Amino acid sequence: MTPRPSGPVLLSLVLPCFNEQGVIARTHQTILASLGSLPDVELEIVYVDDGSGDDTPKILAGLAASDSRVRVVCLSRNFGHQAAVTAGLDHARGHAVAVLDADLQDPPGVVLEMLQAWRQGFDVVYAVRTKRKETAWKRAAYSAFYRMLSRLAHVDIPCDSGDFSLMDRAVVQRLKELPERNRFVRGLRAWVGFRQTGVVYERQARQGGESHYSFWKLVRLALDGLFNFSTLPLTAVFVMGLFISAVSSLAVLGLILFKLTGASIMGHTAQDLPGYTSVTLAIFFFGGVQLASLGLIGEYVGRIYMEVKGRPPYLVREVMNGEARPAGEKA
Ligand code: UDP
Ligand code: MG
Repeated sequence: MTPRPSGPVLLSLVLPCFNEQGVIARTHQTILASLGSLPDVELEIVYVDDGSGDDTPKILAGLAASDSRVRVVCLSRNFGHQAAVTAGLDHARGHAVAVLDADLQDPPGVVLEMLQAWRQGFDVVYAVRTKRKETAWKRAAYSAFYRMLSRLAHVDIPCDSGDFSLMDRAVVQRLKELPERNRFVRGLRAWVGFRQTGVVYERQARQGGESHYSFWKLVRLALDGLFNFSTLPLTAVFVMGLFISAVSSLAVLGLILFKLTGASIMGHTAQDLPGYTSVTLAIFFFGGVQLASLGLIGEYVGRIYMEVKGRPPYLVREVMNGEARPAGEKA
């Protein structure tokens, strides 16, 4: 791997913010303290206000007014975390672009380590969480999800890596050009390939405010990860259907022979069989299997519907210290 030529670089930080009034000023200070005065690194900080209903936009406007390195992209409403990250990537101009949470869960200091790996020649440096300072159920759910995803997805999505990462301009450009609207950024980042590596870090507790991922939002995110990156569930349903049909055909054949030959098994003939329990159970069972399979196919059909409509993943209301760029625009 050839190291990148040394010299001044423009480093962009992308921070999606939704109702982060309690922590955003502190986040900004922490960023400046750890990355603000590095030799040969010019900083650009892109805050994406994802339709916050609190004072976040005001605080961000203040930061933009006092520091020309700050760019604020205000979305026209709340579009969700993944769309906000996408908007930030679309508006970042750096040679290297890092994505981090606005709540200081992803320590800006780790970006230094990522930058080093980038200088060595890596194109994507993702952060792998070792310890998480989050509730036990959340840790268990995350862990189960990442392990399932790595088995099912058609691309290798590294375990325990979230959106916290640093990407080379070439990678960001490829991401921008991907046409899909429903974006699971960490999956797309793995899909593009290039030279990737991980750095480990301890995920901190939130430094203020509350997590915006409720249980159901996390479930949605997990389903996006699964369905956007794997068609294996469809195959599984198909195989299950084949299996059940084969087994029941054999059973029916057996039953017909049992009746025709008048044979007895353990003293019972076909006449002794009470029918309705097994019939009722079979109806329930196949009803359940069919509903689940239909629902699963529905998940894919729904996604096709959303993609076909071709609506952009977000709309920009205003950009402070910069120009609005349409989603997916080529460089
Ligand atoms: N976020 C966003 N839009 C949303 C929800 C969250 O831009 O609709 C931002 C949020 O401000 C934070 C990041 O996305 O910077 C991650 O969200 P959060 O910290 O709530 O998730 P968690 O870290 O608990 O998984
Ligand atoms: Mg967070």
